[in-house]
Amino acid sequence: MSFDVPQEEFEQAAERLLHWISDYLENSQKYPVLHRVEPGQIRAALGEACPDQGTPLEQLLDEFEKVMVPGLTHWNHPRFFAYFGISASAPGVLADFLSSALNQQAMLWRTSPAATETEQATVGWLRDLMGLPSTFDGVIYDTASVSTLHALACARDRSIPGFRTKGFQGKTPVVYCSDQTHNSIDKAIIMLGVGLEYLRKIPTDENFAMRPEALREAVRRDLKAGLTPCAVVATVGTTSTTAVDPVAAIADICEEYKLWLHVDAAYGGSTALLEECRPYFDGCDRIQSLVINPHKWLFTPFDLSVLYVADMDVLKETFSLVAEYLKTSDDQVHNLMDTGVQLGRRFRSLKLWMIMRYFGAEGLRERVRRHLQLARQFASWIDKHPDYERLAPVLMSVVCFRYRPAGATEEQVEALNFRLMEELNAEGTLFLSQTRLRGTFTLRLAIGNLRTTEAHVAEAWEQIQKLSRR
Ligand SMILES: *Cc1c(COP(=O)(O)O)cnc(C)c1O
Repeated sequence: MSFDVPQEEFEQAAERLLHWISDYLENSQKYPVLHRVEPGQIRAALGEACPDQGTPLEQLLDEFEKVMVPGLTHWNHPRFFAYFGISASAPGVLADFLSSALNQQAMLWRTSPAATETEQATVGWLRDLMGLPSTFDGVIYDTASVSTLHALACARDRSIPGFRTKGFQGKTPVVYCSDQTHNSIDKAIIMLGVGLEYLRKIPTDENFAMRPEALREAVRRDLKAGLTPCAVVATVGTTSTTAVDPVAAIADICEEYKLWLHVDAAYGGSTALLEECRPYFDGCDRIQSLVINPHKWLFTPFDLSVLYVADMDVLKETFSLVAEYLKTSDDQVHNLMDTGVQLGRRFRSLKLWMIMRYFGAEGLRERVRRHLQLARQFASWIDKHPDYERLAPVLMSVVCFRYRPAGATEEQVEALNFRLMEELNAEGTLFLSQTRLRGTFTLRLAIGNLRTTEAHVAEAWEQIQKLSRR
């Protein structure tokens, strides 16, 4: 270790860090949920340039606590209710630590048989827990945005034969999604050269789910205009309200017009583990691809997203290129570099393995189910109170609502809710975020942290009522 940290210093620092992390995970509620810094503050405290001389690890850990901790927004906090609740579970933290030390670069099977096959095994387990067809194969990327980009690249190539070598050849592919879809789809469209004008946002019904008959009409119109309908993205668990697009009805249309059907279940995918939520996934045996983010609602430290494809060969045909220096004599092996844009990749599946094995399938189900119950509980409090209004059905673990005291005008209600959110977040006991539903400013309370209990949700409700009255 002589050119690295001396072993003794490493062990001391690691021990201190271990205690810090263990206290942090156990007691994250001692921090304000939202950071406490001004823009530029952390950067200024870090200094202008890298010092010439090195600094002992012990001192760096001190500096981390002093300078960076105030600039953390605590996603692990049990009263983090903004965006989507996520959690770094302890098994996931340990696996990530180990993965960094091992420094596996799993581009080829031979550069890490363990990382390659652990990935194949764990994504297979997760597929089976979700009830997806056993013929589906999965690959791990960093984020859902990147998973979806890969899926839509396959769709584009399939709709325009020879795309890989000849490009668009005068064809104009068109992609369809609902007006509630996550903007990672828009970003994929930008990257794929399709042009945002050819991303059709199909209107949704009163529950914010895509209207299949409007989809069919749009496809027909585009075909008539000489365009090339290419793919549909259906969402199971939209970002604003967790709405569920009718996958089976959409699959009928996709089969009729030979369109690629990609399902964005980045957040909602975890509910497929529960028998009672399986109906949300009806039709998923007739799709071409699906993304789920274990880093969202499966207790996996950021980042880890899984893309499932019905036919792994299509993904390989789209991305595989083998340079001379990467050729190996291993046959019958799966080389992860063939399954996407990146060549190398870290040993992310170690996290998934450690988490799935530590909690077990039943442990994962129980934890997701508990979050669904907490959300329903909060929704029932909103529904019972005359001064609050719920703005969307609660299908998963997100509640959309607003404060609406009797006699207030629409404008006043809008301003009140904006101020309510700002003041709740400034206080630091909880963190909420907003969305807009058909133009209406809406508060979102999202439950998904491993450490959130009914008491935390009740405290949030108390706090919301207290500040509303004020
Ligand atoms: C969060 C989310 C995404 C984006 O996830 P990243 O992993 O951050 O790219 C995409 N779609 C849906 C429905 C999401 O909830």
